[in-house]
Amino acid sequence: MGQRIKSWLGIDKQSDYVKNYFFNANMRSSIYMSVIVIVLESYMIVRMLNQWFSGQLPKAFSYYFTNYFLYYIMLLVSGILMLVCAFLHIRGKLKHQWVGTLVKWIFAVICLYFGVRISIGDYTKGEQILTFLTMEMFVCCLFVWRPLVGFLVLTLTYGIYIYKISGIAPVSGAYSVLSKLSELTPEEAYEKLQAVTQTSGLSQATQINLFTIWLSTLLILISRYRQTMAQAKKDEHLEEVNAYLNEISVNDELTGIHNMVFFRSEAEKLLAYVTTDRDNIVFLYFDIENFKYYNEKYGFHEGNALLRQVAQMLEEAFQGSLVSRFSDDHFVVLTRYDGCEAIIRKLSHRIHEFQKEVHIDLKCGAYRPLSTEKEIDPSVACDRARFACNSIKKHYEQTFQVYDKTLEDRFRLKQYIINNIDTAIENNYIKVFYQPVVDTADKSIVGLEALARWQDPNYGLLPPGIFIEILEEHRQIHKLDQCIIEQVCRDYREAADKGLPFAPVSLNFSRLDFELCDIVDYFEGKAKAYNVPQEYLDVEITESALTDQQNLLQSAMKRLQQDGYKVWLDDFGSGYSSLNVLKDYQFDVLKIDMKFLSGFSNNEKTRPILQNIVNLTQQLHMTSLTEGVETQEQFEFLSKIGCNRAQGYLFSKPVPIGDLRERISKGDLHVSDKYVTHPTATA
Ligand code: C2E
Ligand code: MG
Ligand code: MG
Repeated sequence: MGQRIKSWLGIDKQSDYVKNYFFNANMRSSIYMSVIVIVLESYMIVRMLNQWFSGQLPKAFSYYFTNYFLYYIMLLVSGILMLVCAFLHIRGKLKHQWVGTLVKWIFAVICLYFGVRISIGDYTKGEQILTFLTMEMFVCCLFVWRPLVGFLVLTLTYGIYIYKISGIAPVSGAYSVLSKLSELTPEEAYEKLQAVTQTSGLSQATQINLFTIWLSTLLILISRYRQTMAQAKKDEHLEEVNAYLNEISVNDELTGIHNMVFFRSEAEKLLAYVTTDRDNIVFLYFDIENFKYYNEKYGFHEGNALLRQVAQMLEEAFQGSLVSRFSDDHFVVLTRYDGCEAIIRKLSHRIHEFQKEVHIDLKCGAYRPLSTEKEIDPSVACDRARFACNSIKKHYEQTFQVYDKTLEDRFRLKQYIINNIDTAIENNYIKVFYQPVVDTADKSIVGLEALARWQDPNYGLLPPGIFIEILEEHRQIHKLDQCIIEQVCRDYREAADKGLPFAPVSLNFSRLDFELCDIVDYFEGKAKAYNVPQEYLDVEITESALTDQQNLLQSAMKRLQQDGYKVWLDDFGSGYSSLNVLKDYQFDVLKIDMKFLSGFSNNEKTRPILQNIVNLTQQLHMTSLTEGVETQEQFEFLSKIGCNRAQGYLFSKPVPIGDLRERISKGDLHVSDKYVTHPTATA
């Protein structure tokens, strides 16, 4: 049978949700219906007893008992039973649904039987058939039936009723009414009515009326079923969507393990529960070192597979503990400290199984709340564990680090930096130090690198190694870079106005500057405001910046170069994709990372590598610059292989502008003749 027909008849397979929905609807209807039944039947019982006691009943009580009283009692009892079932169900105490269904059927059968029986009696007395109709309404319209069941119940009861009243003698009271209205004697009227009913049964009007009522009741029944079904399906769908949303709100979509929303709320509950043995609790933060390169090399698909495997590994290793994905390739675990180090060591070995050409490693930071700590905030605890983990990044031999006093101090400094960057800028704590860049031909200064320093009243002079990464992590770096741009422009203007020598300054731009603000616009605006010629400002972009935000960076670089500024590639050779970078971008100056000079005297490979890089810059029409030059030997070699420029402690450390001027005026350093400025109009 077609699915459509089955669904029309209500004999299609229904989900548990829909079945429950129907059951609930019927239980709710039961409450109203049973209350009506209880009140009505109680009234009927009292009324009948009253009539009997006051002697108003013409026949023996046994007649009324079997024909009426017994039904009143049965209806009353089934009504009470139904009410009890409905209440139990609402309170969630009805263990078996079939009990409710059975009571419903018992009630329905009694109702319908009573309705049919009483109404046949009424019909013969010339009274209405309201009891029959009331009971049909009760049972067929207030309960929700499957259409086929409803059709059968209705047709059966109507059938029995019509069959019964079709065959019986004309109504007892009707002939007297007829004899009064006509000139017939009562006997003649009786005979006439009897003749009519015997020959034609029910009158045509009654047949039509009964058919119409049957049909209307059936239609109400079907429409109630369909409405309830539509609502049930809608609710079921909503429930499914809700369940899905609930699932993704606590589970990480990619790895299937819990997410941080779940972790935080569960950790809070757990910590509130654990009152003893608190110093055995540990928050672990895991990071897959070099995951970024793994992803780049093998693609997202492989990267995701690795994340799933690591998540699985962590769940297995820390069974019974709270394991969640923190973000990207980071995971957190809340577990017992005892024995966790051994597990981490094992995990670290296991992760090497997934290693291909890219060296990946598992790093773990741990935070052990102090036993004196009354309230532990899981977010802060994770932050500290993360901090401990980040502190061993690039320490190849170390896998595990506990957050300790030294880290605590560093963590506080980190918080201090994040909270005070605005104040530091406002109060001029951010200073520019300049480090000369010299021409290898004559050691004259042909450039200055602007390097930020934070002169703090509490912490003293902070080098950029401490605050740059933190500001980048908290997306505040553009504030610092804007501050440096302005100071450099101001320093140039002052030098130009006073006719002091000043060389082109290269500024370090963070990769995030291009995302966080329109840094090119800001830079060009300041240059214009302080009237700084284009050749006095250069932009350094580190190699690592080129791996993400490629479009943004490429268009910014293009804008800068079109407007006459030079763009340098900083730290060349410190990352993974150096040569590709040279293919995809056009740089004016290539700054060779100081790493190449670190093994200068004892690593014989250093020299040919440097030689080849310099050759490459020549072929690609770039200026070469090597940073970190500390010895005369290094300088001479660079000069010999044709490296154009050099920068390093051999010539000068980064110094404030005043010190630089002093050294220039003393003759320690001299600026290339090209860059000896003359006073120009102030901006
Ligand atoms: P960088 O741009 O590669 O700067 C060169 C770093 O090497 C400077 O460190 C400098 O002091 C140091 N250096 C120069 N010559 C030598 C040498 O001969 N030997 C040794 N060992 N080191 C030398 P610094 O000033 O600590 O800056 C570190 C990094 O911080 C910079 O590396 C740059 O990436 C970043 N940075 C500095 N200032 C800023 C800034 O204003 N904005 C941004 N976004 N980053 C900055
Ligand atoms: Mg630099
Ligand atoms: Mg550099």
